Amino acid sequence: MLRWYKMVENMKCYLRCVRSSHDDVFLPDKVPVFIGRTKELQITDRTCSRNQLQLTANYSKRYVLVKRLGANLSHIDGMDIPRKQSCQLKSNQTLYVVEMKFPHDIVFIGSDNERDVKPKSETAGNEPEKLRTFDDTNESSKCLSINQSKRTLLQRKLSEKGECKKSRLETKEDKSNNDDASDSPYAFDSPATGSNVSLSMSSSRFAMKGHWSQGLKASMTDPKSIIFQDNLIVVIKDKYPKARIHWLVLPLEEIAHAGQLKPNHVDLLKHMLKVAKSLAKDSNKKKKYTFRYGYHAVASMSQLHMHVISQDFSSSSLKTKKHWNSFTTDYFVDAETYVIELRNNGKIEDRKAFTKFLKEPLRCHKCNASQKNMPTLKTHIEKCET
Ligand code: AMP
Repeated sequence: MLRWYKMVENMKCYLRCVRSSHDDVFLPDKVPVFIGRTKELQITDRTCSRNQLQLTANYSKRYVLVKRLGANLSHIDGMDIPRKQSCQLKSNQTLYVVEMKFPHDIVFIGSDNERDVKPKSETAGNEPEKLRTFDDTNESSKCLSINQSKRTLLQRKLSEKGECKKSRLETKEDKSNNDDASDSPYAFDSPATGSNVSLSMSSSRFAMKGHWSQGLKASMTDPKSIIFQDNLIVVIKDKYPKARIHWLVLPLEEIAHAGQLKPNHVDLLKHMLKVAKSLAKDSNKKKKYTFRYGYHAVASMSQLHMHVISQDFSSSSLKTKKHWNSFTTDYFVDAETYVIELRNNGKIEDRKAFTKFLKEPLRCHKCNASQKNMPTLKTHIEKCET
C-alpha cells in the first residue's frame, strides 16, 4: 500500500497535443482545469468555446474526467461526450477538443507498470488518508485556469521534461494495433532498425519517436518498409494498407505537415509525385492497377506523406467508414492540387473543415451507388464493373 501511495505522490499528469502544437498542460490531481479556445492551446476555431472542457485528473485511478461545457461536440476516440456530462479519458485514448479536431492525449508521469499489480482493495475505498477523494475537492477554490496550470508546469524541473518524453513510449502501447483513418492513431512506433536514410530529425518534439503519431519516422528508416529512396524522398509501404498497393511518399526534409510547406517546396512536391507515378507504372508491368496519388486533408501522422493507393481497396485493414471516406471523398486531396496551390498561393490551405467528409454516407467510388455498411460496400466494389 505504501509503495502505491508513494507512486501516486510522485505522479504527474499532462495533457499532450498529438500534433505537438503547444506545450504539455499540467493537470494536477483532482483539480479541475479548463481548456478551450485559448492562445495556450493554439485553438482559434470559433466552434470551440473558451471553456469547452473541464478536465480533472484522478491520479490514483489514472484517468482524467472530461466534462463538456461547450455547445459543440467533443469526443473521446469516436464517442460523443454529452453536454454537461463527464466521461473518463484514459491514457490509451484520444480526446478531440471540438468536432473531432484538436486531438490530445494524456500521460501519467512517474508511474510504471507497478500500478497494474496494485491490490484491488486499495482502490475500493481503502485509499491512503493523504489522498483526497474527488468528493473532498472544493472545486471552486481549486479550479485552475490553463495559465495557472501552465505556470505550474513551467515550475517543474527540466528533468521531468525528460521523463515526460520517455512516457510517450509507455502510455500508448495499446494503440499499436489501432489504425483508424485520419482522425486518430494509426499505429505505434517500433524502434528504428538500421538507418540507411540520412534524416535530420533533431528537434526534440519531432524526435519523440515513441509516440504513435511519429510512427512513420521509424518506418522511413526501416529497410523492410522502404521500397525506394533517393537524396530527397523515401517511399515506404503503408503499414496498414487500405488496398492491394498502398505506399507513402515522404520527404527526407523535416516537414511535419502540409501547413509547413513553403514556396520553395514546389519542386519537392513535384518530385514526390513523379517518383510515385514511375513506381506505380513499374508495378503495373505485373498487374494493371488504377492509382490515385494524394494527401489526407488532415493527416494524423507526423511528417508530410503522400498516399499512393490502388483503387481496388481490397484489404482487411480497410475497416471503417472513416477509412473509406478518407480515400474516396474530397478528404483525399489530389497531389496535383497541392502542387498548384503551393505554386499559386505559396502555402497549403488549412483543411480542418474537410473532416466533415469523413461522415458522408458510404458510396461506391466507381458507380456512386450508396451502400448500407462496410461489408455490403466491400462485396459491391468487388463486383462493380463501372
Ligand atoms: P494519414 O496521416 O491520415 O495521411 O494516414 C497515415 C497513414 O499511415 C495510414 O494510411 C496508416 O495506415 C499509415 N501508417 C500508420 N503507421 C504507420 C507506420 N508505422 N508505418 C507505415 N505506415 C503507417
